[in-house]
Amino acid sequence: MTHPPEAALELTVEPWAETHQLLPEQTWVIVTHSSAADGSWSGTLREDEPFQVDHRPESVTVWVNGNCFHLSDTEGDVIESADWQCPAQDFSS
Ligand SMILES: [Zn+2]
Repeated sequence: MTHPPEAALELTVEPWAETHQLLPEQTWVIVTHSSAADGSWSGTLREDEPFQVDHRPESVTVWVNGNCFHLSDTEGDVIESADWQCPAQDFSS
């Protein structure tokens, strides 16, 4: 698949509808958590699927099936998060 090297990729994180421009050569990391009580991921297309990723030539949509998402760069700097229902937040100060 070819892709103009200067073109940004539009990243959308659902169901929060958070949209970001992912620049060429950038790598981001997305993490989600689900509470232990749930036991499994709800899944989008398949059971037990924490993420569903739709990659199109100019955009990426990530469906998160956990309670939260944490988007960061490869250095660990937070870009965006939706952590008000994060079951892992109890473990951080
Ligand atoms: Zn979390």
